[in-house]
Amino acid sequence: MAIFTVVAGARPNFMKIAPIIHAFQKSQAEGKNLQFRLVHTGQHYDKKMSGDFFEQLNIPEPNANLGGGGGTQAEQTAAILVAFEKELMENRPDLVIVVGDVTSTLACSIAAKKLQIDVAHVEGGIRSGDLSMPEEINRMVTDSITDHFFTTSEIANTNLRKAGVAEERIHFVGNTMIDTLMAQMPRFKKPEGEIFDHLEPKEYFVMTMHRPANVDQENSLKAMIDAILAGTGGLPIIFPVHPRTAKNLQNLGINAPNLHLVEPLGYLEFNYLVKNAKGVITDSGGVTEETSVMNVPCVTLRDNTERAETIHLGTNELVGTDPKKLKPFLDKIMAGEWKHYQGIPLWDGKTAERIVDVLEAQYA
Ligand code: UDP
Repeated sequence: MAIFTVVAGARPNFMKIAPIIHAFQKSQAEGKNLQFRLVHTGQHYDKKMSGDFFEQLNIPEPNANLGGGGGTQAEQTAAILVAFEKELMENRPDLVIVVGDVTSTLACSIAAKKLQIDVAHVEGGIRSGDLSMPEEINRMVTDSITDHFFTTSEIANTNLRKAGVAEERIHFVGNTMIDTLMAQMPRFKKPEGEIFDHLEPKEYFVMTMHRPANVDQENSLKAMIDAILAGTGGLPIIFPVHPRTAKNLQNLGINAPNLHLVEPLGYLEFNYLVKNAKGVITDSGGVTEETSVMNVPCVTLRDNTERAETIHLGTNELVGTDPKKLKPFLDKIMAGEWKHYQGIPLWDGKTAERIVDVLEAQYA
């Protein structure tokens, strides 16, 4: 009997674990000899950043919730480390599966490896080279102690090979976030609320912003929003505001009738809006993957990306964090002259099945 512990902590993790959990459930239904435990670290804990995703993506109740949310990076890392070590000592698995690049990914891989439990990193190997982002540190540390790398791109494979990782530990399987996107697309739904009733398909923009480099300085946040407003021809802009961004945004007192600040949306509602948008302006990593597969123009307000395939084969362009650079990109979207999605290898909706096949072969 193989026992796997799956870790999820923050919003972008939930879409990545859902298909893995479903593939485990399918294996169990087929009589395979495996068990899994789902552990929520509590890094994101409010309903709009966590609970709603469990409901919409049909993720079962976690077996444990570590309540590790709140506080600084260090406080959060420490709280999750301590609580997850205890969890592992009480329920020792054969393997811990972490996904993505959040604080929980880092803390849980360290706790597991120190107890000499194998670690699998789903979305391993990607790098932006930008250590000013906590996510890059999380990726580097996690990958330095990972046993099995489940990768989303050839670029990730190359990064791992360059770092000396043996070929048999690199499993190029694709992207579980895209499994979720493809599985849920038929269920996408228009959000409730008057603003959404007035949106015409391809006649509005969606934006998200939550990286410290973009939202922590009020002046630069304001300059970027002004540039967005100036470049989008008065079309409605829907901006679901991440909790991290909310406070600074309130202080700016922006008053533009076509900019609609809304609460974070459910997955089905957010991606309904993205799918039908004229363009998306974001600093999120996951959103650049989803826009690519849905063939929606996307501009990224960052100087670098760990997901270069979304630029080479997808619909993403890097604009940087200087508002002055935005206009030519928005002009192109407005003129309908954007590149199209060319297909990214193995982003086909079957990644989680491939992951579970590998794990069964190694552990079950
Ligand atoms: N998302 C969502 N509702 C929102 C904004 C984003 O469901 O209001 C989803 C989005 O579709 C993607 C994920 O959240 O699947 C991205 O999360 P986030 O931007 O927090 O993380 P990142 O990808 O930047 O690590």
